[in-house]
Amino acid sequence: MASTAEVDAQRLDGGEALRYPRVLLKLSGEALAGEQRFGLDPSRLTFFAEQIEEVVETGAEVGLVIGGGNIVRGAQLASMGMDRVGADYMGMLGTVINALALQDVLEKRGLDTRVMTAIRMEELAEPYIRRRALAHLDNNRIVIFAAGTGNPYFSTDTAAVLRAIQIQADVIIKATSVDGIYSADPKKDPNAKFYPTISYRDVMLEELRVMDHTAITLCKENTLPLIVLNINQPGAVLRAVRGERVGTLVS
Ligand code: UDP
Repeated sequence: MASTAEVDAQRLDGGEALRYPRVLLKLSGEALAGEQRFGLDPSRLTFFAEQIEEVVETGAEVGLVIGGGNIVRGAQLASMGMDRVGADYMGMLGTVINALALQDVLEKRGLDTRVMTAIRMEELAEPYIRRRALAHLDNNRIVIFAAGTGNPYFSTDTAAVLRAIQIQADVIIKATSVDGIYSADPKKDPNAKFYPTISYRDVMLEELRVMDHTAITLCKENTLPLIVLNINQPGAVLRAVRGERVGTLVS
């Protein structure tokens, strides 16, 4: 959580008083792929950069975690016979490709960014060092955390929650393609009930597919608020950071 002094400093800098001054945004890899569901779609990258830029303009400090599902999913390759550990490393490398792509579009808009990786590859990005990440955020740089947790058998959702806790983010926002959390998949079930708010416990008990159990458990144990929203609604992330009701709040 940003200290009062930091929040005040943002106000002095001309930033707004925000409900969530420091935010960790989790984007899935698939979201970057657009219609073809594989690889990178430049128009999607530009759209995300616009959404992130308007949040940064408020004075909010932004960390990003990007998935890799548009390139490699470890479990999928393992089901086809590949060694799981190797396949998961491939998945983590996929997240680095996505991070570099997003860094490129953000920097083209004049935004200051750093990519930090959980697996060392210093020719192209900084290694993840928590104190250095905090210094970047204090200097209003967007920090893109890549290579997940650095460990096979984990997900980028878990990596996102871990980083959110470590940087003391005020909220984690999970960007999805639906408006928030429903009792069933709203794309398949017209009777699916929308939850504007829900507890971590109910997410787990009802086995709602929001994030994997490890990630939700970490949120719960650290009382980290989670907002699940539709990234395809322009301005949704900005409204959430300002504290407007958008998507589903899990707390
Ligand atoms: N992965 C991993 N450890 C991590 C994060 C990711 O092994 O800490 C691997 C895993 O194989 C996963 C892939 O990277 O399938 C891509 O991440 P994820 O599936 O979470 O991406 P998303 O679904 O968000 O695009």
